Amino acid sequence: MEQDLIAEPDRDVTEIDQWWRQIDWGCVAGITVLHIGAACTLVPLFLPAGSPLTKYFFSWEAVILFLVLQFVCGISNNIGMHRLLTHRTYKTWKWFEYFLAAMATLNWQGGPIWWVASHRLHHRLSDRHGDPHSPRNNFFWGHIGWMMVKDPRFATLDSYGRYAADINKDPVHRFIETYRVLWHFVVAGICYLIAGWPGVLWGACLRTVAIVEVTGLVNSASHRFGYRTFNTNDDSRNLWWVAYITYGEWHHNHHAYPNSAQHGFYWWESDLSFQIITALSWVGITWDIRTPPKTLLAAPRQTGLLEVPEDAMPERASQLEVARLTS
Ligand SMILES: [Zn+2]
Ligand SMILES: [Zn+2]
Repeated sequence: MEQDLIAEPDRDVTEIDQWWRQIDWGCVAGITVLHIGAACTLVPLFLPAGSPLTKYFFSWEAVILFLVLQFVCGISNNIGMHRLLTHRTYKTWKWFEYFLAAMATLNWQGGPIWWVASHRLHHRLSDRHGDPHSPRNNFFWGHIGWMMVKDPRFATLDSYGRYAADINKDPVHRFIETYRVLWHFVVAGICYLIAGWPGVLWGACLRTVAIVEVTGLVNSASHRFGYRTFNTNDDSRNLWWVAYITYGEWHHNHHAYPNSAQHGFYWWESDLSFQIITALSWVGITWDIRTPPKTLLAAPRQTGLLEVPEDAMPERASQLEVARLTS
């Protein structure tokens, strides 16, 4: 597997050859339309009080739709795409796995196979040659730009499916993946039926943009700003305000212990996503939840960087193997 990764025509992490020739215009158009729709939620601020036009841009039903959907879809990204499908940090029923994958596919970050493939590559090659979204290129690239430029490794479902073979062989995940754009229109239609045009603007556009942007901050800001606790071989950081708005993505802790369901290690590192995974275990929906070594969590935080045992997490060992092959 590692040999295949090295043989791929990777983009260089510090040099994107003629990126303007490889722009994914479909993705750019989608992102642009969603941002314009999200910006329309601000229109009432510029209308005179009592304007009859306000009802096309705002309603309390639409705001509630936004709050509920951004929470469900955002949490599904964390405990579904990330901690379950990519890293298998806990076990659950298949129906719940498919539910999380379907809801997270509404976040305009590809379907479950694309998400898992790109994120596993990120862990294997973090901030090195072949990392899909290192901000070492530039901040915008790590934030959202990388999704707008075609990557030969992600040209077809079969090409990127190799990086997520376990997800790719599941027919339900392939179904969700194949029709990933359609689901956005279906949900936008449901939002329209519930709350009219304001429902589309708040429940579909603003909700999607909010999640795309905060997820982008994990890939960009959390690889540039914040504190480090462990001696990892990447640029990952724990950035408190990004962790709080992403319901617990303490990204540096996660790079040190990628197969842990728990990302917040110390009392100030609030991790709502892990608390939800834990709460779901009380009603039999999740089980076999993986956490960091108890000795690590029990010890007071040290000054200086802590070493992470190479064999503590299988994926980290694999990452180190890739580093050895590429050096
Ligand atoms: Zn990262
Ligand atoms: Zn991860």
